[in-house]
Amino acid sequence: MELPEVEVVRRDLEKEVVGKRVRGVDVRPHRNAMRVIRRHARRKEFADRLAGKKFTKVDRKGKYVLVHLDDGEVLVVHFGMSGQFRRGTKRQALPTHTHVVIEFQQGGDLRFVDPRTFGEMFVTSADELGKVKELDHIAIDPLEDTFTWQEFSVELGRRATKLKALLMDQKFVSGLGNIYSDEVLFAAGLRYDRMSESLSSQEVRRLYRAMREVVQDAIRFRGTTLDDEAYVDLFGKPGEFQAELKVYGRKGQACRRCRTPIDVVKIGGRNSYFCPQCQS
Ligand SMILES: [Zn+2]
Repeated sequence: MELPEVEVVRRDLEKEVVGKRVRGVDVRPHRNAMRVIRRHARRKEFADRLAGKKFTKVDRKGKYVLVHLDDGEVLVVHFGMSGQFRRGTKRQALPTHTHVVIEFQQGGDLRFVDPRTFGEMFVTSADELGKVKELDHIAIDPLEDTFTWQEFSVELGRRATKLKALLMDQKFVSGLGNIYSDEVLFAAGLRYDRMSESLSSQEVRRLYRAMREVVQDAIRFRGTTLDDEAYVDLFGKPGEFQAELKVYGRKGQACRRCRTPIDVVKIGGRNSYFCPQCQS
């Protein structure tokens, strides 16, 4: 999951689980379930911190979802490569790779499903939250208005890095991975290997705008679901942005803007898709 998918899940959680009170938590008996709650020593310790609590708000920091509880604690969730939340009811069988089931007093439940178990969940106090090192660094969030393009420009100059690598650096921008970094660069008309300090102020503005627009568009289409189906929403439904992608995964196909075949290069083992005509 990249930022748009995490944000779609956050918004759905806001509608679906805020105001609900936890009846009980079932951390499944297999060993991989312990991997998901790895910051807790025992299943019971994790479950007890949620049981009886009401969900009051759902925030996001980078790709972390923060579910606030009415006692001031916070359930922190990261989806990793393949984590998902799924709504369900007692009568519905648990999907394979379900590790945690949070049951609500109002009926229904919320399941955390993760085949590869890079995702995780933990409960922490609001005070301790500041000490979680993954949540500590301040990166640009393409959905927040807290940074201006001038500040963005200063940061780009300071980094002196190739754009693709820079956009994927979670310490620089939150939540852009392989798919959206390619889409952002296409929308900005910039190549993956342009050096960040070489951009004109017009190019900086284009990049700044592209970052916001691509992420917002992807949210509007409820995220990208590729063939691996790693991402589905709370109701098991795939996103629809894959049909809107301009370059990612489109090697050899005609550019939607200029009809030139989309090209691909491998950088650090990952594909970068671009239009040799539209991006420079
Ligand atoms: Zn093109």
